[in-house]
Amino acid sequence: MDLSDTAAEAAFRRGLRDWLGKTLPELPPPPDPDDWPGRRAYDTSWQRRLYDAGYAGVHWPVEAGGSGATPAEHLIYLEETERAGAPYVGANFVGLLHAGPTIAAEGSAEQRRRYLPPILSGREVWCQGFSEPGAGSDLAALRTRAVRDGDAYVVSGSKIWTSHAEVADWCELLVRTDPEAPRHRGISWLILPMDAPGVTVRPLRTLAGTAEFAELFLDEVRIPVGNRVGAENDGWRVTMVTLSFERGTAFASEVLAGRRALGALAARAARDGAWNDGELRRRIGLLAAEFTALWRLVQWNVSEAGAGGVPGAGASVFKLRFSEARQRLYDLAAEVLGSGALLLPDQADQADRSDPAEPAWTAQRLQGLSYTIAAGTSQIQRNIVAQRVLGLPRPGRSGAGGG
Ligand SMILES: Cc1cc2nc3c(=O)[nH]c(=O)nc-3n(C[C@H](O)[C@H](O)[C@H](O)COP(=O)(O)OP(=O)(O)OC[C@H]3O[C@@H](n4cnc5c(N)ncnc54)[C@H](O)[C@@H]3O)c2cc1C
Repeated sequence: MDLSDTAAEAAFRRGLRDWLGKTLPELPPPPDPDDWPGRRAYDTSWQRRLYDAGYAGVHWPVEAGGSGATPAEHLIYLEETERAGAPYVGANFVGLLHAGPTIAAEGSAEQRRRYLPPILSGREVWCQGFSEPGAGSDLAALRTRAVRDGDAYVVSGSKIWTSHAEVADWCELLVRTDPEAPRHRGISWLILPMDAPGVTVRPLRTLAGTAEFAELFLDEVRIPVGNRVGAENDGWRVTMVTLSFERGTAFASEVLAGRRALGALAARAARDGAWNDGELRRRIGLLAAEFTALWRLVQWNVSEAGAGGVPGAGASVFKLRFSEARQRLYDLAAEVLGSGALLLPDQADQADRSDPAEPAWTAQRLQGLSYTIAAGTSQIQRNIVAQRVLGLPRPGRSGAGGG
């Protein structure tokens, strides 16, 4: 197969590269990593620039407000934005990378009209209310209940690990609408307005020192029935769509960032003399091969999503390998940095500023510990790969592995 750019793809790449070259120098300096209102403002204003230039949701279907780009153009978009050092989706990753695509795939025409344009244009931010204190890996054990009252659901319960809840306008919320049904069949997928009476957000602090997620308490919150995506009690199926976007394509640009960080690590090792260690060179080489293979998996998932609308079970293969490779990368960086890796992120930014490819190693390492948990743990991904990709027999019931 010929993977080089066609004439149209080359023109798309050139146009995007020129636009990034003109636009990125105009951006203000990024805010402090823990200033979430500041990050929301920064990330949504970047999104607005993409939108105005016609690059927001390039791969979203035209009827969902995107430009319906081909999978190849989507991959070019990821390559060029990463290469230029453009900001990531940031505070609205839920809206742009999985709630939005889920509404595009499963929402009604009215829901697509109402919710998708503000995501693409950076006006509204979303969070994800899937996990609960007793329902993470075993997501179908969720207990937040929704009782129908006329044209609304009255929702009570609590959620945990809700990323960016403090700055979100909307939440993709899983609730139990039929407590009598088998547990996978009594769930619905609702759109919760975060400013509704009865919603309380309490921030949680992470190991990396930031308050990026929160607990969410719901006390008799009224949510219009029209905010339900999919049929009542069919929320588990809709959730599988959300999770396949979350695992299959949401981390795509981070693979390229990982590859760049690995190159910077090799350069630093060469400068420091650590490169003389043959074992270290072998491990860097293995990781380079892994990141190249991961980019192939991204290409696969993106083209599968382009053909069928949604990435398939290969999403779990990617999520598993990517999150583990990312951790190995930053563990290796800690070895190269030596005792410098023990400094906390707010004590030192160990990036060598003479090399623009260098990330802040300790901050990335601490953050990276969460990658094999968020979006479903490695153990759960292995179960899914065993059962749905390899066709091995089930040892017992297992869940979908959270949001
Ligand atoms: C940075 C970060 C951001 C997150 N953001 C969100 C968010 O925005 N919204 C949201 O809803 N959730 C979010 N989560 C929650 C995340 O989805 C859950 O933490 C995850 O699904 C694991 O659930 P748990 O924490 O309840 O662990 P548990 O389910 O208690 O699992 C504990 C351990 O047991 C293992 N285990 C459990 N069941 C099995 C099994 N059947 N077979 C083998 N091993 C098993 C797990 O793999 C894990 O190692 C986030 C988590 C992190 C770390």
